[in-house]
Amino acid sequence: MFIQSQILPRVRVVQGDITKLAVDAIVNAANESLLGGGGVDGAIHRAAGPELLAECRTLDGCRTGRAKVTKGYRLPAKFVLHTVGPVYADGRSGEPDLLRSCYRECLKLAAERSVESIAFPCISTGVYGYPKAAACAVAVDAVLEWLAGNDSPKTVTFCCFESGDAQLYRERLSQV
Ligand code: ADP
Repeated sequence: MFIQSQILPRVRVVQGDITKLAVDAIVNAANESLLGGGGVDGAIHRAAGPELLAECRTLDGCRTGRAKVTKGYRLPAKFVLHTVGPVYADGRSGEPDLLRSCYRECLKLAAERSVESIAFPCISTGVYGYPKAAACAVAVDAVLEWLAGNDSPKTVTFCCFESGDAQLYRERLSQV
C-alpha cells in the first residue's frame, strides 16, 4: 500500500496525439526496419521532420522487444525511443514477454539519459493486433514494477489515441 501511494502519483493517462506532448521522451511503436510506417510511427516521423528518418537510417534496425534512441528534432520531446512490439499471433508465442521487454528497454534507455518524463503509446495494439486489455495489463504492470525500483524517469504518461484505451488504463490503474 505504501509503495503504491508513492508510485501512482508518478503515472498519468492522457488521451490524444503523442507527438504533441511536451515530455522529455516519447516512445515510438516502430517496426524492425526503423524506417517509418503507419499509425503512431508515421505520425511521429511527420511531426519530427526528415532529420528523424536520416538518423534512423544509421541505426541498422531494431529487434522485436528491444529499443533504440534518437533525437526528437521538431517534436517538443527531446528524445524518441523507438521500440518494436510483437506482432500478436496467439498469445502463446512469447508476445507478453516481448511486449514487457519493450516497456522495460525504453525505461532503461530513458533512465540512462536521466529522462524525467516519458510517454508511451499503446504499443502493438494497432496493426500488430495485440488485444487491448491484455496489452494494457502488461504495460501497466511493467511500468509500475520499474517505478517501484527506479527513481528515473520521474513520471510516465500512457498516451492513448482512442478514448476506449484511456478508459482501460484508468480502470487498470484504479485496481492496483
Ligand atoms: P503497432 O504496429 O505497434 O500496432 P500502431 O501505430 O498501428 O502500432 O498502433 C499502436 C497504437 O498507437 C494504437 O493504439 C493507435 O491507436 C495508437 N496511435 C496512432 N496514432 C497515434 C498518435 N498520433 N499518438 C498516440 N497514439 C497513436
